[in-house]
Amino acid sequence: MNLHEYQGKEMLSSFGVAIQRGIVAKTATEAVAAAKQLTETTGTSWHVVKAQIHAGGRGKGGGVKLAKNLQELETIADAILGMQLITPQTPPEGKKVNQVLIAEDVYYPGASEPSEYYMSVLLNRATGKNMIMYSTEGGMDIEAVAEATPHLIFNEEVDPAMGLMPFQARKIAFNLGLSGNAFKEMTKFVSALYKAYVGSDASLFEINPVLKTSDDKIIAVDAKVTLDENGLFRHKELEALRDLSEENPVEVEAREVGLNYVDLDGNVGCMVNGAGLAMATMDLIKQAGGDPANFLDVGGTADAARVETAFRLILKDPNVKAILINIFGGIVRCDRVAQGIVDAYKNLGDAIQVPIIVRLQGTNADIAKELIDGSGLNVLSATAFQEAADKVQQAIN
Ligand code: GDP
Ligand code: MN
Repeated sequence: MNLHEYQGKEMLSSFGVAIQRGIVAKTATEAVAAAKQLTETTGTSWHVVKAQIHAGGRGKGGGVKLAKNLQELETIADAILGMQLITPQTPPEGKKVNQVLIAEDVYYPGASEPSEYYMSVLLNRATGKNMIMYSTEGGMDIEAVAEATPHLIFNEEVDPAMGLMPFQARKIAFNLGLSGNAFKEMTKFVSALYKAYVGSDASLFEINPVLKTSDDKIIAVDAKVTLDENGLFRHKELEALRDLSEENPVEVEAREVGLNYVDLDGNVGCMVNGAGLAMATMDLIKQAGGDPANFLDVGGTADAARVETAFRLILKDPNVKAILINIFGGIVRCDRVAQGIVDAYKNLGDAIQVPIIVRLQGTNADIAKELIDGSGLNVLSATAFQEAADKVQQAIN
């Protein structure tokens, strides 16, 4: 689950990470009020208006703008709110901006030039350790840095049992070329950031840029936070931050009814019980020359109601040219699933315009096949994997 920048920053701040302060606004009037309030607490009269969407690269797309007075701020906020913001990370049509973060300007002039760094915290699955990736080349496209100058990206592995050691935080500050107060601030920043990563059960933090201000403060100017969904039950307050308007509507609906559904780009819908069989089924579809339109695990209790719900979800995708149902009847009996398919088909009536290939194996598979074949519906049954693949191929051609 992804957080918006303003939510991520609030969460980081609650763990003691220094952030660029800001207030979220839904209208230009709210934006002006937010700016006035910020001026009272921070003393700065310049502000940045930052579009809040679940995608990066907002600056490049015109979603981050500096306002030097309240008139400018109102005009900018008005223009950004409601716009379809297109960035390198959004879908081609962009994403609608419903909220803006009004933030204090932190690039003010002073004793030294502000410097932008890159920092992320994530899990290294290969070593089973957390890692902090960081670079002096912040503020820009880190993929480009990794491509052109990989030696400028550092990596610090942290043993989850030991936690981040003070010497590691110092090493990071040193490698970033810091000294004096900025060095101390960076060690504090890194320690708090790691604490927040573990404490929020996050799977990714990406802070780009981490800023050294002209007066040697170290703060998070941006925050991309991804939380581990499996840890959310421990963080009701974070779970409440979910923004459903940013998520795929079919996936949202599937989650509400307890189905494990992931939307994909292909043309063959699949309904499978068990994640392993679902993966194998997607391979099967590929081999047959198709592309899976989704991953859908209906789970162990594939009764008529669940099968019908699953059908409805798959049919919401206009690209679906055929549906492959591949169910292994271990706990659930195949004849019950078959009856569920037939009932669901009849209930959905005209909604189903595409051929359906059903492979049921396991308990009572023979009775299930009789039920499907005798139903008189446009449902093809298959016994073997290859047979199912062949029928999928015929269906999509
Ligand atoms: P992203 O483009 O989606 O990654 O959004 P960021 O939050 O990283 O902001 C993009 C850029 O806006 C930053 O790299 C900065 O150059 C600029 N920016 C952010 N905050 C301020 C600020 O307070 N003052 C000024 N002048 N520029 C800022
Ligand atoms: Mn950024």
